[in-house]
Amino acid sequence: MAKIKGKVVVDVEHCKGCGVCVASCPVNVLGLSTEVNGKGYPFAMMVEPENCIGCASCAIICPDSCLTVYRQKFE
Ligand code: SF4
Ligand code: SF4
Repeated sequence: MAKIKGKVVVDVEHCKGCGVCVASCPVNVLGLSTEVNGKGYPFAMMVEPENCIGCASCAIICPDSCLTVYRQKFE
């Protein structure tokens, strides 16, 4: 069966560090940075990138549309 792997790209400067995406991920890929962006907010990042299944729950739920999900299929 083909396997799907995902990758999330974060628009760091628009992220406000609310953490909604972190809570929405079913496989605990996301976390918040210890660094801050230009507005002084921590931002979302992939802390367990290998787990991402490209489901896009995080991108759908982000109130500021900061996340773009890319999916790659492996045969
Ligand atoms: S695409 Fe799905 S699996 Fe990947 S980080 Fe977002 S919620 Fe988690
Ligand atoms: S839901 Fe959006 S604004 Fe909130 S932490 Fe995640 S990427 Fe940032």
